[in-house]
Amino acid sequence: QVADAASAVGRDLRLTGLRKEYPNGFVAVHDLDLVIPQGSFFALLGPSGCGKTTTLRMVAGLETVTQGSITIGDQQITHEKPYRRPVNTVFQNYALFPHLTIAENVAFGLKRRGVKDVAGPVHEILELTELTVQADKRPAQLSGGQQQRVALARALINRPEVLLLDEPLGALDLKLRRAMQLELKRIQTEVGLTFVHVTHDQEEAMTMADTIAVMNGGVVEQLGSPTELYENPATTFVANFLGQSNLIAGTVVGIEGDQVKVDMEGTVVSIPLDRAHTANTAGTKGWVGIRPEKVLIAPAGEPIDAPGSHMTGAVIVDSSFIGVSTQYVVKMPWGREMMAFEQNTGARGVLAPGTKVDVSWRPEFAFLLDASQDVD
Ligand code: ATP
Repeated sequence: QVADAASAVGRDLRLTGLRKEYPNGFVAVHDLDLVIPQGSFFALLGPSGCGKTTTLRMVAGLETVTQGSITIGDQQITHEKPYRRPVNTVFQNYALFPHLTIAENVAFGLKRRGVKDVAGPVHEILELTELTVQADKRPAQLSGGQQQRVALARALINRPEVLLLDEPLGALDLKLRRAMQLELKRIQTEVGLTFVHVTHDQEEAMTMADTIAVMNGGVVEQLGSPTELYENPATTFVANFLGQSNLIAGTVVGIEGDQVKVDMEGTVVSIPLDRAHTANTAGTKGWVGIRPEKVLIAPAGEPIDAPGSHMTGAVIVDSSFIGVSTQYVVKMPWGREMMAFEQNTGARGVLAPGTKVDVSWRPEFAFLLDASQDVD
C-alpha cells in the first residue's frame, strides 16, 4: 500500500532553482530547473566544463547545494547524506575491488547493508547484465566492457530509484562503446529505473536518451527529445553541438500564414513559425539554419526532388564519397559555401567539382536563429 501511494504521487526527480557556487566564487550551475520523469532515460549533454558533472554530483550528494532543492517524488533529498538517497552512481573508472570475484563485487553493497541471502539477487543481476559466466573471475580477467557491466550490476543491485551515470562509457573504444550504448538502453528498459546519463558525446546521448538537456556555461540551453533538438535547435550552440549545420545570414521580411519569410542573400525563403527562434518583425537579423542532409542539389536546370526555395548559380567545389553518402561543398552565388550531404542510393554518380548546380530544400526543414549568437 505504501508503494502504491508512492507510485501514485510519482517519483519524478526534480531539480528546482539548483545552484552551485564553488568556494572560489565560481558559479558552475545557475538556478537549474529540471523535471526528470520517473522511468525515463535522461541525458545531460554538454562540452567539458558546462556543469553537468557538478549537477550529477549534487544529485548524488557528493557535492553540497548552494541554493535550490532536489526532490524525488515528494521526498526532499537536497541535504540528505549520499547513502540515504535512493540514488546510485556508476563512474567512468569502475572502482572494482581487484581481490574479490565478480559475484563478490556485485554482492558487496547488499552485504554491507546486512542482507543475509544475497545469492538470489546477485544471480538475477548477473543474468541481467550478461555476466553469469564471469561470476567467479576477478576484475583483471575481464575486458573493459565487462568491467563496465560489473560496475553497473553493482549499482543496480541496490535497487536505487535513480541511477546516475557519469561518462560511464568514456574509457571504452568506439566499437565497444556503441555496443554498450544499446546494452545500457536495453537494461534501462528492462528495469524501468530513472537513468540520468552525463556525456559530452552527442551521438551517445541521441542513441540512448528519451530526453536530453543540452548544457552550456552552467545553464540548460535547450531541453527536448533527440529529434526535437536535432531538427529544431533553438540556439546556434545547440545547432552546432548536435551535428553539422549550414547557418546563413538572413533578414526577416514578414509573416505569411504560419511561415516567416526571410531574405537570405537575395532569395526569400520560408521558415515555419515554430522553428523561428527570433523576433518576427521585419528587419530582424537571423541565421537561417539547414542541416546538410536536408540540402538537395541537382545539375543546373535538372529538376530537384521536392523543391522548396530554388537557388541557381551554385557550383560544387568539393565532393567526398564516403560510401553511405557523398558530402559536397557548394559555393553559393553570393560567395559563401554550404554543405550538402546526399545519401548514396545509386540514383546518380558523384558530381565532380566544377559542376554547376541548383540548390533547394523543403521549407519545413529550415530553422531561424538569433543573429546575436556566435556561429562557431
Ligand atoms: P567535464 O566533462 O570536463 O567533467 P563538466 O561539464 O562535467 O565537465 P564540471 O565538472 O561540472 O563540468 O565543472 C563545471 C565548472 O566548474 C568547470 O569550469 C570547473 O572548472 C568548475 N569546477 C569544478 N569543480 C570545482 C571546484 N572544486 N572549485 C572551483 N571550480 C570548480
